[in-house]
Amino acid sequence: MTDLAAPSAVRKLMERHGFHCRKSLGQNFLVDANIVNKIISSAALDGEDTVVEIGPGLGVITRAAAMRAKKVVSLELDRGLKPVLEETLQGLDNVHVIFGDAMETDLDGIVGACTGHRGPYKLIANLPYYITTPLIMRLLRSGFNISLFVIMVQQEVAERIAALPGGKEYGSLSVAVQYYTEAGYLFRVPRTVFIPRPEVDSAVVRLARRSKPAAEVRDEELFFKIVRGSFGQRRKTILNALGTAFDHIPREKLRKLLMAAGIDPGRRGETLGLAEFAAIAGEMHSLDLR
Ligand code: SAM
Repeated sequence: MTDLAAPSAVRKLMERHGFHCRKSLGQNFLVDANIVNKIISSAALDGEDTVVEIGPGLGVITRAAAMRAKKVVSLELDRGLKPVLEETLQGLDNVHVIFGDAMETDLDGIVGACTGHRGPYKLIANLPYYITTPLIMRLLRSGFNISLFVIMVQQEVAERIAALPGGKEYGSLSVAVQYYTEAGYLFRVPRTVFIPRPEVDSAVVRLARRSKPAAEVRDEELFFKIVRGSFGQRRKTILNALGTAFDHIPREKLRKLLMAAGIDPGRRGETLGLAEFAAIAGEMHSLDLR
């Protein structure tokens, strides 16, 4: 059985199958047993867990997850990996590999088809870099029955996910992730443990889905429009930034609305916490100003 944590064995495996990594699909394969173990431990798997993995690649995380979980459903876009995965996952009868696009696939649906139930399940992935943020947003907002995410992302994205108000990393992604989950930065992964080597380091984050969002919001579309608008022009005051994003609302009305929400209109968006964005959304909603 190929040692997927040994770079020379991984190169031979790819050569044998005539497989070439596709940069356009974010194919940087992890070749470090210690990091694989840390990812799996962070998901605290037990024999009752179902895992969904996005992008199994050569199967290095898939194999390790299959040893601990009840079922693993792995979703891979690149059909060229089919013969490789048939070899590396041979004999693991609790693994199902599905070929499809994570940006379009109904995850609850494939879990249901493969396991007979629709979750909750844990999502583990070394995410393809080219779609990290839109994919995280899709998974959070879709309502899929994911209880926990343990995901590897670019270092800079991990910092943005875990950032708190006031810092330069804090932005729309931080608010969105923290609205739906309790987010924690776990550990850094150096670029040297991948084939081929990416240009930046990575990090693993853990997102535990909240039983209900962190702030009470009646209109999520409006809430996220306010959040995006507030960070769209970071150097502007919240009044000016929202004045641009909601240019149909007269400036004076917007100023009063911010005051009513308890927000000083001279503050910058990046200093506002979740509850403060929710308070602005609440005021706008009650005045029917979307
Ligand atoms: N899990 C493997 C590892 O850690 O070595 C591979 C990780 S690699 C960073 C990302 C994987 O996601 C690749 O196998 C790639 O083909 C796959 N992928 C890229 N875009 C995808 C998409 N839209 N849906 C599903 N898988 C995708």
